[in-house]
Amino acid sequence: MNTEVLIVGAGPCGATIANLLGVYGVRTILLDRAPAVIDYPRGVGVDDESLRVFQACGLGREVHADMIQNQALIWFDSNQTKLAEIAPSGQPFGWPRRNSFLQPMLETKLRTGLERFEHVQLLLERELVGMRETGDGVEAHVIGADGTEETITAQYVVGADGGRSTVRKLIGAVLEGSTLGARWLVVDIKDSTYHAPFSGNYISSKRPFVSIDLPFGYRRFEFRLNDDETDEQMVRPEAVEKLIRTHFNWTGPMPGLERSRVYSHHSRVADRFKVGRAFLAGDAAHLQPPWFGQGMNSGIRDAANLAWKLAAVVRHGAEPGVLETYGQERRGHARALVELATTLGRVYGPKTMAGEKLRSFGLRAMQRIPATRDYLLQMKFKPMPFYAEGVVLDPSPKDPVGRMFIQPDVELPSGERVKFDEAAGDWFALVGINTDPADHLDEESLQYWRSLGARFLRVNRSRAGSHMLSAGSETVVLDDVQGGFRDWARTRADRDIIVIRPDRYLAATCTSSQANSMTRRFSAVLPVKTKTLTSK
Ligand SMILES: Cc1cc2nc3c(=O)[nH]c(=O)nc-3n(C[C@H](O)[C@H](O)[C@H](O)COP(=O)(O)OP(=O)(O)OC[C@H]3O[C@@H](n4cnc5c(N)ncnc54)[C@H](O)[C@@H]3O)c2cc1C
Repeated sequence: MNTEVLIVGAGPCGATIANLLGVYGVRTILLDRAPAVIDYPRGVGVDDESLRVFQACGLGREVHADMIQNQALIWFDSNQTKLAEIAPSGQPFGWPRRNSFLQPMLETKLRTGLERFEHVQLLLERELVGMRETGDGVEAHVIGADGTEETITAQYVVGADGGRSTVRKLIGAVLEGSTLGARWLVVDIKDSTYHAPFSGNYISSKRPFVSIDLPFGYRRFEFRLNDDETDEQMVRPEAVEKLIRTHFNWTGPMPGLERSRVYSHHSRVADRFKVGRAFLAGDAAHLQPPWFGQGMNSGIRDAANLAWKLAAVVRHGAEPGVLETYGQERRGHARALVELATTLGRVYGPKTMAGEKLRSFGLRAMQRIPATRDYLLQMKFKPMPFYAEGVVLDPSPKDPVGRMFIQPDVELPSGERVKFDEAAGDWFALVGINTDPADHLDEESLQYWRSLGARFLRVNRSRAGSHMLSAGSETVVLDDVQGGFRDWARTRADRDIIVIRPDRYLAATCTSSQANSMTRRFSAVLPVKTKTLTSK
């Protein structure tokens, strides 16, 4: 068998990459050694950045329909007195920022989504056991559940094969970091009648615990285990029931136990995300404790970052050098989230009663000061990705270049109101704010954007009048119906041309008079074979 991209591991990260490559038209094989999606208790919190990626897969509304939206996270002390709340408002990227979901249900929808693409194959019960790089590709050695051996050749291989990644071992990459000492019992119950419509984290020096409201009557509980409690003892239904009754004052009948498992937590990041033609993504590349609900979300960011770069090389003639920017752009942010999740774990699990009191005092004090209350409430402590190097032109920490671009609603010429990405298309977008970007480009620049497959968009101020509607035939005219571009441009009025990448990160901005020089400089950052422009 032969393919352009082989993805090992059909968990949420691998299945998302496969969907994106499906959208981009790349021939892809996705394989998984298991016969079905993993049914352990795992991810329950998904953020707006991931939802935007699922939207790019063409599955945003479908997967979001299964989620509880805008779910607050509340921190309590061990007496169950509220200390602080995280409930971010606003939807800068077009989706609610905190949502609870069931990972097996999401994964099933991602896999079903692949059926839309004739050029994407999902092969189950196939285990990658070996791999060798040839001059122009990779030969992967795969064994089926019945013992059949086969070789799959591919131009590139992505190891999205989880924390114990075979690909990681085969390419010699190493996970750096540590495994934390504590063990946690994680339990999902079904048909829950317990009414607590939020995620609750209970800070305690004796036994920190967690309770999370999940869709369709499910509820998640997590309890830190003590050293004298064995895994076998504590996963038993009687032990689980006792923990739930004790900690939640639960007197009614006990609902069904759906899944339970004991986990240790890891804080680890791979030393490299790419070796030759092989890449690591998702848990194969980084592992974090679940305290900020960002393990899978980090993997979805990897998926969005890597998929378009692979497609740019395989489909659009981009120089393979762009693939080096994957690790450059992703590794630092993945590490920042691992560190934040590890710190939060320390906050939840104080070692002594004095530590517990100190945390309660600190969080209460933060609630009294509007600025610090807002810092927690609006989740301003979440590190947002910023690409200081990679496929970006002149990024700087105080600038929007290198960051995810906003997603306001816009109105199509038909009068239909859509989320911006639906109008922008699946790929690069060259956007003029109140101007047609094509009007400012010479033939050579136009040729570069066309060869890259960029879409030209003109976003007009809302209800601007018919004189604003003219644009070249290849430019889509949009109405800034929600005022999102107006507000974004308020402090950046001179920069009316912007370049948005397929993963919706802002790659470049300039004034319309700089459109050609910007294009020339950008073509050096993302050279497309035989079409790199000469600087003038
Ligand atoms: C208790 C708990 C709570 C969590 N909560 C959250 C949360 O709220 N939010 C969040 O974002 N994340 C959360 N996570 C983390 C999240 O579940 C993981 O980060 C996510 O599942 C990783 O996805 P992945 O696709 O990278 O890997 P996985 O889901 O592990 O998938 C890897 C796949 O690769 C396959 N595979 C492995 N080796 C091979 C091979 N050699 N050949 C073929 N196939 C192979 C496996 O069968 C598997 O299907 C939580 C995790 C736990 C344990």
